[in-house]
Parts: sequence; structure tokens; C-alpha cells
Amino acid sequence: MPKRSRERTAKLQKLISQGNFRHNISVIKKGTGEIVVARRSASKTPADYTACEFCKTFHMKKNLWKHMKSCVVRREYYGSSNVECEKRIAAVRRGKSLIVNAAFTSEDGLVNELFVRMRDDDIKQVVISDELLCREAGLRMAALGSKRDQKQDDVYRVSQAVRTLGRVLQLARETVPDATMYTLIHYSATAL
Ligand SMILES: [Zn+2]
Repeated sequence: MPKRSRERTAKLQKLISQGNFRHNISVIKKGTGEIVVARRSASKTPADYTACEFCKTFHMKKNLWKHMKSCVVRREYYGSSNVECEKRIAAVRRGKSLIVNAAFTSEDGLVNELFVRMRDDDIKQVVISDELLCREAGLRMAALGSKRDQKQDDVYRVSQAVRTLGRVLQLARETVPDATMYTLIHYSATAL
């Protein structure tokens, strides 16, 4: 690979991004820490960002489509052919599922599906960071049965139920920052 070649730049970019991507996924899973983003801005809430599916750098959702136009890895992927820039929505949705899939292993397929569809906000971050809430979400999704048997808003209802629990935990974290659903249940049980 010749120096300064586009191929080399793309490969290097990919390596750097992989490290940052892994870091960001662990931040999202733990619910604490700061994510590494392509361009600094006032907001550093993970929910405002998503990953480019090609180079895996994190961008503001509203700016992702702009990045796509100049992404070296994307250009590398499509070769020299000038492919039309994808619609913003598709890029953001694919970034979302990339993050969710990286944060959860394949056996959590049902939870993945739920999190891809759940609105990205602080409540979602709380839910994703809590092991017990994720398990609860998985069980509720499993209880829906096969896709064929599901009603249209079944997944939405699971989402709402899990988010309600997430709100409880978020509230608890205002007084006990490292509270988990497990500690909440444990301590309220011993207090009875
Ligand atoms: Zn990119």
C-alpha cells in the first residue's frame, strides 16, 4: 500500500475507529463515561450520537448524512463509483442497530430488536446499562411469542413497560448514583 493512498488512509481510519467504537460501546453498556465522537459539540449525551456503519466513528445523528458523503471507508467500500448518498433516516437507523448489536451478544436477539425500536434518550441509556432491566426486557420480548402471533403494538407495550422501570431507576440514581435494579430490589426487600 503506497503512503497517502486512499486505501491506506481508509485502513488507518478503520483501525483508529475500531478502538474508539469499542470504547463507546462500553460507555453505552455501563451508562457512565464519555463517548469519543468525530466532532465535539455542546451535547455529549450518547443518545444524540450514532455510529457510521462504515468507519464506526460517532456523529451527531443530524450530521451523519453529511459525514457519509465524505466518509473515506464508505468511499473505499463502494470503490470509485459515485453512489448516491443514502437517505439520512436509513443511515441513522443502521447506525442504531450497529450499536445495539455490538452492545449485546447474539443470544440477546430479542432485546436487540426492542432496543433498535426504542426511542434514543436518557431513559434508554439507563435501561441498557442495567443488567436486570435488560433481562426483564428479554423475558417480556420472549413472552410475545413468534412474530406471526404478535399484535402490532406488542413490542411498543414492552418498550413502555421497561421504560417505566427505567424511570424508577433513573429517579433512584438521583440519590444513589450507582443504583441498579438489583440493589433497589435487594434493599427494599431487606427493609421490609
Ligand atoms: Zn464513516
